[in-house]
Amino acid sequence: MKKTVLITGAGRGIGAACAELFAKHNYKVAINYFKSELKAKQLSNTINKNGGCCEIFYADVSNPKDVKKMHEEIKSKLGNPEVLINNAGIAQQKLFTDITLDDWEKMINTNTKSVFLCCKEFLPYMIHEKKGKIINISSIWGVIGGSCEVHYSASKAAIIGFSKALAKEMALSGITVNCIAPGVIDTDMNSMHNKQTMDILKQEIACGKIGSAQDVAHTALFLASDEASYITGQVINVDGGF
Ligand code: NAP
Repeated sequence: MKKTVLITGAGRGIGAACAELFAKHNYKVAINYFKSELKAKQLSNTINKNGGCCEIFYADVSNPKDVKKMHEEIKSKLGNPEVLINNAGIAQQKLFTDITLDDWEKMINTNTKSVFLCCKEFLPYMIHEKKGKIINISSIWGVIGGSCEVHYSASKAAIIGFSKALAKEMALSGITVNCIAPGVIDTDMNSMHNKQTMDILKQEIACGKIGSAQDVAHTALFLASDEASYITGQVINVDGGF
């Protein structure tokens, strides 16, 4: 039987690449979107036209009511997810002295509270079934810290602590919890950087090139597979040797 995967923030970027790849590998894909309804619809049409199976679901994943409603809709249309990819996120570049309390709260709510809310919502089914895979998208900045990204780095570092702790608690329930820490990946998130900044970043990467959303998606697909069942509480850097 086909497994269901929920990917948050899957209308574009890394989430969209995961949606396409998981659909190709026979998963029923729940595509969550927030603002990018049109892109989510286009992606879903393409996947379904190519013989995949997916549906789109609106939710601001930092809002508990939205997450609950999304769960009800996914359950009735695709069945409960056995794989949860917490991918939705925002970034912002600011000097620490310019970061406002509003900036901080928006960052933590979108990047970290959303992971808490989605795990709270979707874990009980996994625990009941004694199987499940949770893949949380952190960032290398959460591992090493990024200048002018204190709030972003903190939100992503929190996901790592969260995942390592939850992994220990869930291991005997047959559920794995891992993080992917992407490096510099070619998506809208990096469109704020000019060419000069991107060139400087490229020089920091051993592979000498920016990563693709597909590089991250392939790692997520592996972590979701049976072959990765003995891997839990880990942070896999997908960063070309940054
Ligand atoms: P992106 O292209 O900017 O996409 C961000 C995604 O997050 C969008 O699909 C967006 O959905 C969704 N999102 C934002 N706020 C949301 C909310 N409140 N509720 C639901 N969805 C929300 O960025 P990306 O590069 O694909 O990033 C995906 C993840 O990878 C993020 O967690 C990011 O921090 C992480 N990451 C990226 C890089 C990189 O270099 N690109 C590096 C390290 C980590 P809508 O458009 O529908 O609002």
